Amino acid sequence: MVLHSISLPPGCYGGPEVEQLFTNTLDWDAHPYFDGIRGLKVSAHFFIRRSGEVLQFVSTLDRAWHAGASTWQGRDQCNDHSVGVELEGLEGSPFESAQYRALNALVRSLGCLHPLTDIAGHEHIAPGRKGDPGPGFDWAELKNLMGELSLRGPTAPGDGTFSAP
Ligand SMILES: [Zn+2]
Repeated sequence: MVLHSISLPPGCYGGPEVEQLFTNTLDWDAHPYFDGIRGLKVSAHFFIRRSGEVLQFVSTLDRAWHAGASTWQGRDQCNDHSVGVELEGLEGSPFESAQYRALNALVRSLGCLHPLTDIAGHEHIAPGRKGDPGPGFDWAELKNLMGELSLRGPTAPGDGTFSAP
């Protein structure tokens, strides 16, 4: 599973724009920021709002286009073998408790269908190119919620924020 952060326009929460982007219905003329990403074609399997509401855009049996050029644990092209989850938020800013709880529930329910073994941020699979969800994402909080669930995740040098099983 690959975690991302997104908000449109950046820092604005609760609107329909992210849904519109992922369903190819965003009006590129509606905001100056949208003009800069005009024509952007991306998708994700899930979007978790600040409230914890979970929206699904792509079947987990299908590929979504969220990772781009990427590598994780020696495997390239993470789109081919990962579920993409977008958290409503701003790269580097904190996320809501409801979002961690929703993410934990999602990981648990997906685990019934797919052998989830790893969880990482976009920043970890495309370092230098991508920085989301960024330092505002609390890996320790997620790890606490996941409890006995053992997924391999990112480890920051020295701090062990999310240790490998
Ligand atoms: Zn991303």
